[in-house]
Amino acid sequence: MDTLNSSPITFSGRALQLTSSAIREILKITERPEVISFAGGLPSPEGFPIPELRAAFDRVLATQGATALQYGRTEGYTPLREWVAQDLSRDGMTIDPEEVLIVSGSQQALDMLGKLFIDPGSRVLVEAPSYLGALQSFSLFEPQYQSVPTDAGGLIPEALDAELTQDARFIYVLPNFQNPTGLTLDLQRRQALVERCAALGLPIIEDDPYGELRYAGEPQPSLLELGRPVGATVIRLGTFSKVLAPGMRLGYVVAPRDVISKLVQIKQATDLHTATITQMAVYETVRNGFLRTHLPKVREIYQRQCGYMLDALQRHFPADARWTRPQGGMFIWVTLREGIDTGELLQRAIARNVAFVPGAPFYASAQAPTNRLRLSFVTVPEDRIRTGIQVLGELIGPGH
Ligand code: PMP
Repeated sequence: MDTLNSSPITFSGRALQLTSSAIREILKITERPEVISFAGGLPSPEGFPIPELRAAFDRVLATQGATALQYGRTEGYTPLREWVAQDLSRDGMTIDPEEVLIVSGSQQALDMLGKLFIDPGSRVLVEAPSYLGALQSFSLFEPQYQSVPTDAGGLIPEALDAELTQDARFIYVLPNFQNPTGLTLDLQRRQALVERCAALGLPIIEDDPYGELRYAGEPQPSLLELGRPVGATVIRLGTFSKVLAPGMRLGYVVAPRDVISKLVQIKQATDLHTATITQMAVYETVRNGFLRTHLPKVREIYQRQCGYMLDALQRHFPADARWTRPQGGMFIWVTLREGIDTGELLQRAIARNVAFVPGAPFYASAQAPTNRLRLSFVTVPEDRIRTGIQVLGELIGPGH
């Protein structure tokens, strides 16, 4: 028999440069039930509104079955676009439904934005660190990444000068409870960021899957909201994955009309449109204010889980370790003392049935710090959080 080596198949250069996500590789190991995994980023199933979604699908099929099962418009189901536009409109900012495109999860939007903006070698600005899934999506289009410096308050707007941003196609920013750091940009930084980007003519991609999952501190205006009055171009991504359920694969893009119409052409070529029945069932679920009663319950789950992990870290991690205290979302970012390699720590942790994600893959540049790690806390029961963090604390050893 022929082996793969002599196969006549020739993959594209683009496909050949793809590698598996570091997280997917770790997740394969952590499927074993004895492993305590802080590696995944799965939302808590406790927050999935199963009876409500079931009833919504049933109502849609009973009353509008033929429409729900038919092809639909690429732009999305009109009542859902109107709902999103209404939900995001604020005093002083009106979103038009024509500025909303429904997508199959915000991950699809990242892929489409890569297609829209990136030529091989195009400069793309990302936070250091940033969301691994976005780096994967953009990388298919072979950009040249430029990392924007961050500190304990997240992205540093003052770092965006003419030299750093020259010829950049966009900056990709996660302002709320960032993945992977859990950090939130304060109002001053948000304002400075949109003003700088407006002055530099740099479009902002604002990715905000976790914004509704705030359980501490004051909600901050979105970059979209702050950007409009100063003339910044902001493309905002939202999703139903964290407020309803990720298996629905439903999200949206809010952007100026010229961006939306290009994205519509791209989406047409990608998948024609997002599943009609899913859009109709989600609209049916949210249209009467369901999220107003549902979201407080979800926030409570996340807050409780976050508290368990912060307590365990305080108890079991060495005094020279530092970690973020998220105001929402599902991640804590830990910085260990210099010299500790979290890739190597992971191997020792897996041998003791505990997993996390080392920090390095979240950096676009080659010089990633090796002493960071990401902990995800929402799906692990309290006693296993305590046990897992204790094991990690032992493996890291006492501080200096
Ligand atoms: N952006 C960020 C920052 C994320 O963490 C995720 C999910 N892990 C996504 C986008 C993709 O979410 P979805 O496609 O489910 O909307």
